[in-house]
Amino acid sequence: MAIRKIYLDNNSTTPCDPRVVDAMVPYFHDVFGNAASRSHPFGWMAEEAVDYSREQLAKLIGADPKEIIFTSGATESDNLALKGAYEMYARKGNHIITLETEHKAVIDACKRIQKMGGDVTFLPVQRDGLVDLNQLEAAITDKTILVSIMWANNETGVIQPMKEIGEICAKHGVLFMSDATQAVGKIPTFPKEVGIHLMAFTGHKMYGPKGVGALFVNRKNPRVKVTAQIDGGGHERGMRSGTLNVPGIVGLGTAAELARLEMEEEAKRLSVLRDKLEKGLMSQLEECYINGSVKHRMPHVTNISFKHVEGEGLMMTFNQNIAVSSGSACTSASLEPSYVLMALGLGDDLAHSSLRLSLGRFNKEEDVNFAIDAIANGVNHMRDLSPIWEMYKEGVDLESVEWAEH
Ligand SMILES: *Cc1c(COP(=O)(O)O)cnc(C)c1O
Repeated sequence: MAIRKIYLDNNSTTPCDPRVVDAMVPYFHDVFGNAASRSHPFGWMAEEAVDYSREQLAKLIGADPKEIIFTSGATESDNLALKGAYEMYARKGNHIITLETEHKAVIDACKRIQKMGGDVTFLPVQRDGLVDLNQLEAAITDKTILVSIMWANNETGVIQPMKEIGEICAKHGVLFMSDATQAVGKIPTFPKEVGIHLMAFTGHKMYGPKGVGALFVNRKNPRVKVTAQIDGGGHERGMRSGTLNVPGIVGLGTAAELARLEMEEEAKRLSVLRDKLEKGLMSQLEECYINGSVKHRMPHVTNISFKHVEGEGLMMTFNQNIAVSSGSACTSASLEPSYVLMALGLGDDLAHSSLRLSLGRFNKEEDVNFAIDAIANGVNHMRDLSPIWEMYKEGVDLESVEWAEH
């Protein structure tokens, strides 16, 4: 029997939908023109394809096609939105508010802004991962230009109260930017309905190709502008120079169209599978905890801590067959617990003992059944070998144990 390979790491990246690949193929060789070549049909045809994709994206998020700026992905979109707004609105102020649980693309862009003289507030989150709206409002000063809060978290799937945040931003006249990478194409994301002015997303998290993404930039009430971070030929209305990645853009547009048509059904199907996966594990294993709000979260994600089991080790027991992510990040020399889980108030232990399981379009029920058995076996195996688990089972109060120094 062939080794099963099950992919439950769709928040890291998704496979390209074969329909997306089919749509892209002609744009590598047959229709290869430069979309900026205005003087011949090769260019016109490429431009027409780009315009069509822009419409497909605009339709998915309820925007005007002119409000879509193509980029190389969400990292670039986040950087363009944050640094571009910081530069553009320097006269109004230098203060930005964001969350401790944002993606590195936002956190590190904000750290760069701090180095450039900006003032950034990284707000903590509540135990369930949600922003405290009172704390957010209290953090706004007359120097605040922008609030950046992600739509859905990549590690926990927790969905922030976008409408309420939008209202607070509107009340104080500050820009609202959102990294919506994990939400676009999976749940309805209409920036104008919730008062978002800048919204970043990417192809490869929604069954499109890697290396292509977009930034939504609101054009009316208010007309928002960001200073270009890449200088050159003045493409994308001067906000992002560089020859457009036509096949990638066609892929992103097609992915958006498919998402718009299939999102509702897919979200329902995946939430049933996710719940089955979660219940399957929680019912067989003691001392498991779901991280983040179970009420406000994405339909296809679960993040679970298995107490007294080290997540990286647990993963090794089944990673020949099942791909997931653990709550530890490998830095140069050591395993760091996830800063997102730490911000939710988990201790080192529980953060290190977590797995993120993220389902996607190509998962089937049998994948979930297989994963439940494999993960449960792995947890039991690890616990059988663990002296700490044995002490816990014998009723030793582990908090009171004095560990020898080493
Ligand atoms: C994946 C991801 C990004 C980065 O997107 P790229 O297209 O890979 O640059 C940014 N933010 C979030 C929330 C993500 O999940």
